[in-house]
Amino acid sequence: MTTTTTTPPTAFFAHANPTNPLAKARHNVRRADFACWRAAQPHLDADIDTTALSLVNTWGLGEGLITAGLRALFRLDTLPGLKALQDTHCLLDIQGLIAIDKPLSALAGLDDATLALIDATLVSYFTPTQPNQVFPTTAKIRRRVRDLAKTLDPSIAFRDTRPKDTYTFSSNGTKAWLELGVDEATGIAIDAFIRETATKQDLSLTDAIKKLLTGAIEPPATIVLHTYQACDVDNAPTYINGYGWRSAPIPHTKKRDLTTPVKESDSYQPSGMIRSVVEGRDETCRLSGCDRPAMYSQLDHRHNYAEGGKTHPSNMACLCQHHHNMKTDGR
Ligand SMILES: [Zn+2]
Repeated sequence: MTTTTTTPPTAFFAHANPTNPLAKARHNVRRADFACWRAAQPHLDADIDTTALSLVNTWGLGEGLITAGLRALFRLDTLPGLKALQDTHCLLDIQGLIAIDKPLSALAGLDDATLALIDATLVSYFTPTQPNQVFPTTAKIRRRVRDLAKTLDPSIAFRDTRPKDTYTFSSNGTKAWLELGVDEATGIAIDAFIRETATKQDLSLTDAIKKLLTGAIEPPATIVLHTYQACDVDNAPTYINGYGWRSAPIPHTKKRDLTTPVKESDSYQPSGMIRSVVEGRDETCRLSGCDRPAMYSQLDHRHNYAEGGKTHPSNMACLCQHHHNMKTDGR
């Protein structure tokens, strides 16, 4: 008699967990759906729009989604590493593939070297390094690809043809809308300024804006934006806490080396240094699939402080208010 033993893979994404029947069922749905899209993919020289239109009734899906999905398949075909990964493991659903294609289609003139770099980066992003690893949400994938595109070539990334610095007012008799359009760095600074005011004055964001602009409250003297940059890479992109990655260096007034070991705090409250390190490391709430930025999260002791858990980055993780409540409630 012979026995066959299969060794479970050492690293895999939770949504492709071979030992979880529900993950397996969903994985099969993903495979079937991907095969369905592939079957409908027109030849390169055919018109995507015509194909999409003909599929609207057949699939009962919107024309926009079908067009985006078909475009995403053609994009996948230009990324050989990712294509091989998808053909073997089928980790991405059509929305994930669209999330990769859309930001890249905003780039003009992608040469082979850039495509190869994007391909390698995505393969590494979608290659698990530990068992039951959380697969990124569609929003996270979109953000990662958009940030990647921005860091590749800021001069071609997301050319904005709208005139710079716009202000528009509109109303419908009962409600009014005010929109300010500025360059991103200015927008980030203003947004941080509004949020800082709201926190300091204990106001909602909208109340903070109303009171600031009508002169009802004094603006805060300073705002603090935490940015992170690798110190062992030349021209490394900058991560701005709460806003994502940027290729351009962000002007800063203070600099701290976060590579040196951080001192454990001797109280329940983490020090500013510990918060900075954990926020920079986590980027978002650490709960699977939650995209709430780390800067609006709470620092949770993984091993409870009351039971001897340290107040140190090694024992702390960002959790948004909602997921922190869930943990506290024992859910
Ligand atoms: Zn969360």
